[in-house]
Amino acid sequence: MRKYQILILFSILLFLTDCVKTKAESGVPDNILTLLLVNSILNSNSGPCATVESIQASSIGSWSPNGNVFQYSSIYPVTLNQGSPMVQVILENSDHALGGLFPFWYLDRNQYNTGFLNKDTATYIGYNTHTSMLPYAKDTSYATDPAVTIVNTGEFSQPLGVDFNFENPSGAKATFINSCRKLDIDESNFQTSEAFSFMSGLNHFWSSEKTLDVNLIFVNGSLGQAYPIQTEQAIDVAMNRWRENFSKSSVRINLNVSVISAELDGYDMLFDLSTENGYPGSLGGLFQTTSFIGKPNALNVFIVKSELQYGGVLGVSGGIPGPATLLGTKQSGIAVFVDAHRLFTNSGDLLAFDEQMLLGETLSHEAGHFLGLWHVTEAIGDNGSIANKDPLRDTPTCHISNDFNFNGVMDLNECLGGGGSDSGGKNMMFWSGAVGFTQGDITAEQGWILRLNPLVY
Ligand SMILES: [Zn+2]
Repeated sequence: MRKYQILILFSILLFLTDCVKTKAESGVPDNILTLLLVNSILNSNSGPCATVESIQASSIGSWSPNGNVFQYSSIYPVTLNQGSPMVQVILENSDHALGGLFPFWYLDRNQYNTGFLNKDTATYIGYNTHTSMLPYAKDTSYATDPAVTIVNTGEFSQPLGVDFNFENPSGAKATFINSCRKLDIDESNFQTSEAFSFMSGLNHFWSSEKTLDVNLIFVNGSLGQAYPIQTEQAIDVAMNRWRENFSKSSVRINLNVSVISAELDGYDMLFDLSTENGYPGSLGGLFQTTSFIGKPNALNVFIVKSELQYGGVLGVSGGIPGPATLLGTKQSGIAVFVDAHRLFTNSGDLLAFDEQMLLGETLSHEAGHFLGLWHVTEAIGDNGSIANKDPLRDTPTCHISNDFNFNGVMDLNECLGGGGSDSGGKNMMFWSGAVGFTQGDITAEQGWILRLNPLVY
């Protein structure tokens, strides 16, 4: 999300040392994968390559990592190598069931004491739905607690694993999404540690251009139309800005865009920007409509007139990452709010040039989230915690000492320095934006995460 950060720090954050001990003592043996519900493969020369497998996560025990009782599944194998460069897991409660849920990863699936929390879980625990991912990595950690180093420099994977933890496991589902695009040589040789200064990553050049299919969905309903003209040309300033950002040498992803208009009564103005619920007016419900209007091989982008919950939210992603290729979940897309981009125009008008430019930055930013990027620094500022900055090494942060007006929030103008710990305001993944201000900086490591996503081919 941009402008306001609402990835709420749930009060049920884990304390890792305790968790591992408790589970280790349970002595439950490693099991293999049990029940396959879905097994689909998207693979063609002209589109993404991804495998999708869903399992019913049956409980083999329980623990209380933070005082709340979670049932946990057996440990499932995870493969990451040059031919399988990214894995996502999507956890979902069954309809109408409530409760927290999170994945717990293992460096070695045969050893319980190698468990770690990924960045997403170290930041918050999902409620009703949760996404997590690990990228192919060469000497890197994707901001985990404890920090682990995953090294997959060869064609074979380390014996990684993951188990699933649900407060309410009845009917709960876990889905694996694996990219099966074989990496280019420069991608598989990329070392995140090579960025010797925080800003050097901007100059990286990838040898090949990739493609991301984008499905623009203009949302109309009884309360209003998303936009007076519903074509790509009508927002071409915004789309060109997005294309420009993603065509940077550190990214090189071409956008292949399709456009539809959709009558989605109840979703033309949103009043609940959470992905926990599926009722009309909620973001989760909007994203569930991808089951009939979404494209599985594309990033589904909902263009919505406005949101009423906060006012001022420019856009929001269904997840970090969003579930690639998976339609019909409460996290299956991104949404941008047209009226939040207005400074000079009235609701119902075409956007002015600068407003469209900001829309282009928002589209870039939310797409970045969906493909796996976090804010370089959260609104609260970098205080050393992995919860408040992205997991990457070559991105700039904005330290809390830059809060010159002491309002507890790192404003854009407080994060425009040139160093590694006082900047980030110009980065595409800064937490807020402004009309008339461009934020197209994208580092090599950010571009690398974008390119590894199963939707990118
Ligand atoms: Zn954001």
